[in-house]
Amino acid sequence: MAQSTETADWVSRFADDVIEESERRAPGKPVVVASGLSPSGPIHLGNLREVMTPHLVADEIRRRGYEVRHLISWDDYDRYRKVPAGVAGIDESWAEHIGKPLTSVPAPKGSPHPNWAEHFKAAMIDSLAELGVEFDGISQTEKYTSGAYRDQILHAMRHREKIDAILAQYRTKPKPADVRKQQQKPVDEAELAAAEGSGAATEDDGSSGSAGYFPYKPYCGNCEKDFTTITAYDDDSTEMTYACSACGFSETVRLSEFNRGKLVWKVDWPMRWAYEGVIFEPSGVDHSSPGSSYQVGGEIVGLFGGKQPIGPMYAFVGITGMAKMSSSRGGVPTPADALKIMEPQILRWLYARRKPNQSFKIAFDQEIQRLYDEWDRLTAKVAGGSALPGDIAAYTRAIGTAAGELPKTPRPLPYRTLASVADITAGHQDQALRILSELDPANPLTSLDEVRPRYDKAEAWINTHVPADQRTIVREEPDTELLKSLDEHARESIRLLLDGLAEHWSLDGLTHLVYGVPKIQAGFSADATPKELPPEIKTAQREFFALLYRLLVGRDTGPRLPTLLLAVGQERVRTLLGE
Ligand SMILES: [Zn+2]
Repeated sequence: MAQSTETADWVSRFADDVIEESERRAPGKPVVVASGLSPSGPIHLGNLREVMTPHLVADEIRRRGYEVRHLISWDDYDRYRKVPAGVAGIDESWAEHIGKPLTSVPAPKGSPHPNWAEHFKAAMIDSLAELGVEFDGISQTEKYTSGAYRDQILHAMRHREKIDAILAQYRTKPKPADVRKQQQKPVDEAELAAAEGSGAATEDDGSSGSAGYFPYKPYCGNCEKDFTTITAYDDDSTEMTYACSACGFSETVRLSEFNRGKLVWKVDWPMRWAYEGVIFEPSGVDHSSPGSSYQVGGEIVGLFGGKQPIGPMYAFVGITGMAKMSSSRGGVPTPADALKIMEPQILRWLYARRKPNQSFKIAFDQEIQRLYDEWDRLTAKVAGGSALPGDIAAYTRAIGTAAGELPKTPRPLPYRTLASVADITAGHQDQALRILSELDPANPLTSLDEVRPRYDKAEAWINTHVPADQRTIVREEPDTELLKSLDEHARESIRLLLDGLAEHWSLDGLTHLVYGVPKIQAGFSADATPKELPPEIKTAQREFFALLYRLLVGRDTGPRLPTLLLAVGQERVRTLLGE
């Protein structure tokens, strides 16, 4: 059973509110929280907050013994707006599908998935499984095309004037200059048509033609695109006539039997709040302005007999270190990219420890090593009973869910050590195992599996995110020029190191040795603490380390020396240091 995290952090405070609100609105029913994701292309790592925020709250509610549904609405019946840059397996010809539902667009070439939306959903579903996120996925294509929302659509059409009036409060008429500016660039045709048509509505809230305003958009029966305008509608018979500007097709259908269209976004979202009884659904800060879909949704949801969910705005999640990344996806970092270099616990922790309104960054650069150090320190504090309640709460949410702990690395050696070993051994697993076994000779590693998956993540990080000029290449031959040029003091330091090597061949031993050599040279004991030493010792240590780096890897810096020495191996260290 999970440790008690009640009232310790933001998650438990939201859980309190959500449980209370759910009992008020729907007593005895499962608590419903929701997220929405659009599989219009690779799902950006930043969008993971849309899922993690309700996930953490849902998980806390489950830990308290309540039944919870976390809905992930796949907005796969949305229109295909544009061909994203940098996606493998597609070309310009995908532009001909603009205006179709995402589930009617072909998947990139070579994909095992039946269509565009399924292709990009699949990667996200795999990542969510690895993260331990339990959810009910709802395909909006399935909902709309099965007629599940029929009553809601007819209801919205009946109340279109009221909806139009609500939306009208926030519409601003674009100045003629704005329209011209829009026309100068290649634009989304429907947006342009809408701007020209009403001078107001956008595809988010529907458009007005000569027959008036409609909050519903059919997909064309001939070309499947949504460049359609409703030209006539009769409330009693539900007869609807629409015309398509893309292909010229027109037809008259009965909306009570027609399943190929959807409510416009600003009506669709509140309709679903009511339909599913959503109690908690956060959204990005861009939804916080007047006239935003969350705010307007609050005014529309009552039409469908529902209430607006508790909906905190979450702040932006930044990514660092991606510029250097070689990505096959046009530089769009996805949750899968993050999970290649960090364990799911770490990614969960990043979300759990920050309130939704706090922004933070996910590091693909050197910063990830510091993050892991911080995580290991927290783990030790929690185990030692000295962690603060808020930190314990975030830790507990990171390592598992109400269903149990996530799989973890049996021997979580420091990430930076694993990264250095992977760096130096360049894929030679037998060498990596040898080095890692020597880190702690009293308790040697017997198989790399003991340090997996952390080792695999560190290795992936080295291979994909560390630039070539920062990789470590151990010298093949000793640098005889440099060795010859050394003065007596430098020679002595190397001699002291070589003399102690065999006896100190472990991570701790070598740490003691490399810091100790300059102390001994200055007339102190190798065990002397910083307080007992003059500040110049630090300079001497830095110079000694730089010399060793130059002799071993031909640069002034490198992985931590004890790790590097173990990685290079005793025999080769002796050769490179001129013995
Ligand atoms: Zn058409």
